[in-house]
Amino acid sequence: MKLLEGKTAIITGAASPRGLGKATAMLFAQHGARVAILDLDVDEAAEAAADLPGEGHVSRVCDVTDKAACEAVAADLINALGAVDILVNNAGITQPLKLMDIAPENYDAVLDVNLRGTLYMSQALIPHLRSRGQGSIVNMSSVSAQRGGGIFGGPHYSAAKAGILGLTKAMARELAPDGVRSNAICPGFIATDITAGKLTDEMRAQVLEGIPMGRAGTADDVAGCCLFLASDLSAYVTGSEVDVNGGSLIH
Ligand code: NAD
Repeated sequence: MKLLEGKTAIITGAASPRGLGKATAMLFAQHGARVAILDLDVDEAAEAAADLPGEGHVSRVCDVTDKAACEAVAADLINALGAVDILVNNAGITQPLKLMDIAPENYDAVLDVNLRGTLYMSQALIPHLRSRGQGSIVNMSSVSAQRGGGIFGGPHYSAAKAGILGLTKAMARELAPDGVRSNAICPGFIATDITAGKLTDEMRAQVLEGIPMGRAGTADDVAGCCLFLASDLSAYVTGSEVDVNGGSLIH
């Protein structure tokens, strides 16, 4: 059964070949959606869109920290795709800094891509979603938001991802009367380029010890949850945060 037949989706930060956004784009396309890949590099974004099964996928350059760019790309994509049903705010960066080492530029970089970008891209699409009385927004938070520090992100990353949880819930409340849903995913330790090559064997072993399922997550594990939240399977789910972490936050 195809869950997104006739739907269109925008996914930010989806060009990274082993990333969560690209895996989500693949799964959405397999389920019949037309997908717009947004990212910073024009060639990488185009390559990612070309990889997707099915017809009609597109790619655009968009720095989500730039409000005017988000508005321009939203207008362009509404025009190109006819309508947009789903937004996945996936673009994110992290930095492994300790509290006292966070300089103003570190704060700005991490808060801007993760939190400001989620706000700006959502704001750019909300008038369109509202006008159609439907839509699903999925925001990528992190286990780091819930436990105060993840595997790799510093406190400013935790703060940005916790901010995303608040924003997700506030958006859900405000948009529910318009038929637009907003949910967040909190991935745990997922093997992607965001941490690739940056963990020592010892760090990796320590992380795995804290995961009851005993393995790192895969990008597909997160994509599956995105599909659920994007599709009508989750028609009565809004304002929620879904853990995809192999049980590492059971308490
Ligand atoms: P990734 O580094 O593979 O992909 C992130 C993508 O975002 C890249 O393609 C990058 O070019 C893009 N990007 C960065 N800044 C951008 C900007 N300003 N505008 C548009 N795009 C931008 O990382 P990933 O592991 O696939 O992470 C995806 C999301 O999941 C991020 O929000 C990350 O914080 C979150 N997350 C990842 C993990 C994990 O373990 N991998 C865990 C929890 C949360």
